[in-house]
Amino acid sequence: MLRRLLLVVATLIAASSARAEVIEHLPAGISKVALTFDACEGRGKPAYLDRKLVDVLVAEKLPVTIFATGLFARRNAVALADLAKSPLVEVENHSFDHPQHMEKLSPAQVQAQVAQADEAIAQVTGRQPRYFRFPAGNYDAATLAAVEATGHRVVHWSFASGDPSPGLSPERLRTWVLSKARLGDILIFHINGRAPATAQALPAIIAELRRRKVEFVRLDEVLP
Ligand SMILES: [Zn+2]
Repeated sequence: MLRRLLLVVATLIAASSARAEVIEHLPAGISKVALTFDACEGRGKPAYLDRKLVDVLVAEKLPVTIFATGLFARRNAVALADLAKSPLVEVENHSFDHPQHMEKLSPAQVQAQVAQADEAIAQVTGRQPRYFRFPAGNYDAATLAAVEATGHRVVHWSFASGDPSPGLSPERLRTWVLSKARLGDILIFHINGRAPATAQALPAIIAELRRRKVEFVRLDEVLP
C-alpha cells in the first residue's frame, strides 16, 4: 500500500515538473513587451548595479525584471533592496555564482546554485524568486529538468541585444533593438555595469516603443 502510494506521489511529482520549457516569448495573446536586465557576477571581478541605468528605469517608471546572481545580490544588497522596494521591480534568479556552463554540473550542483541564489535574493528583497535564467543561456535537458524540479520556470529572451559587446555604441544598440523588437518579446540587457551603452540608448528605445503603443510588463504579471 505504502509502496503504491509512493509510486503515485513520485509520478505526480514527475508529471508536474515535466515541463522542459525555456520561455523566450510572453504567452500568446499578451501584446506587451518585457524588459529584463541581467545582474551577473561570477567568481571573477566584482560587479555593481549600473546607477545611470537605474536612474533611467526610475525616471521612465518602467516595470522591469532583474535576473541577479546570488553574489551580485549580496554585494549590492543595499542598492538592490532599495530598487526592489518599487512595485515595478521584480528580482529573479540567475544562479549563485554564474557558472558559464551549468550543463557540466550535476543535478545536485545545479539545484544548489538555484537554492543559494534564492536565499541571497530573498534576504535582500524579501521575496522568493520564481523564474530562473541560465548564465550565458547554456543548458541541456538534464540541467533544465533539474531547475524545473525546484519549481522555477526558466525564462530566457527573444533575441540578444548584445549590450555587453565591447565598443558597442548607444546608436547601434538602439537601431538593432528597434529593428528586432516585436510585441510579445522578452528583451534582455545588462545592469551590472558592463554594458555602458544601455543607459544611454534606453530612453530612445523606450520612447520609440511607446510611440508604437507598446506597453511594458514584469514577467510575474504575465507568466504562470
Ligand atoms: Zn549573466
